[in-house]
Amino acid sequence: LSELLSHEQDLPSETPDGHDMPLMVNTGLAVDAAALLKSRISGVGLYRTEVPFMITERFPGEKEQTRLYRDQLESFSPLPVVMRTLDIGGDKDLPYFPIEEANPFLGWRGMRVTLDHPEVLMVQLRAMLKASKELDNLYVLFPMITNVEEVDEALRLLDRAILELGEEGIDVERPKVGVMIEVPATIYQMDALAKRVDFFSVGSNDLTQYLLAVDRNNPRVSSLYDALHPALLGALQELSQDAQRLKKPISLCGELAGDPSGALLLMAMGFTSLSMNAPSLPKVRAAIRRVPFRDAQQLLSEVMLLDTPAQVHMHLDKRMDDWQLSHL
Ligand code: PEP
Ligand code: MG
Repeated sequence: LSELLSHEQDLPSETPDGHDMPLMVNTGLAVDAAALLKSRISGVGLYRTEVPFMITERFPGEKEQTRLYRDQLESFSPLPVVMRTLDIGGDKDLPYFPIEEANPFLGWRGMRVTLDHPEVLMVQLRAMLKASKELDNLYVLFPMITNVEEVDEALRLLDRAILELGEEGIDVERPKVGVMIEVPATIYQMDALAKRVDFFSVGSNDLTQYLLAVDRNNPRVSSLYDALHPALLGALQELSQDAQRLKKPISLCGELAGDPSGALLLMAMGFTSLSMNAPSLPKVRAAIRRVPFRDAQQLLSEVMLLDTPAQVHMHLDKRMDDWQLSHL
């Protein structure tokens, strides 16, 4: 199948009626960018910086981080690369920075850790900025935002890093900045967030776990973990409408974006880009190239009327079958 679809990889991710749906890729470790760039992508929608941190023996220093980030930025230049600041805690522990908590997913995670350790964040921001010099394709993304004050503090540190570098004779552009929408509280703070940042990126993996109160890694409750739960669909629809009203791009970088029927719904909602793991690109592109935008919108309006996750899945399966896309 992947061979069958691979010949489409350099074709636009555009519906038959001409709606363009930019696809981006999620990365972590050093990537085979050349292979990735054979498929038509619009950049890196999520570079998880914690991934390289997980295989070192201590926090990588500024020089080492600069090299890592330069490698990513250069590999994909001139396409944008969205670099997320360190998102540890929850299920992602660094061996040299253990965090012991009763409820790790509700605890010290992502921005909460790095704002308590500005020295760690400053090194990372300085390294990203230095790495982006003269490439200017860096986008910075802050994870696990709950309160607007966290954004203000993170931006203050970003500006300080830019100022520091300037004083050292390294002039860098201020990158575009975004926040992850993955804590339900942010759904209701879109206006305040939009005053501060340039773009939104929805983390549907965490948004699902927090909205449904279901641990994303606990097999006992895995049948309740469902990104297509009507509550999620309602939240995603609202987020996309808010972003449009606020004239800010909104991407989604969780697993839902890599699911063909999920991607069609997100496209119909008006998401401006979708970011996924590389292996999902062919099937999502195939779905987009075969389903007219107005049909995806029709599908969305049907699905939004359903009451249960099971009904949503049944309906999507049926329509994918009608479109002869159930093999994807
Ligand atoms: C998410 O939460 O959906 C996400 C993309 O980030 P992560 O899976 O790294 O938490
Ligand atoms: Mg997340």
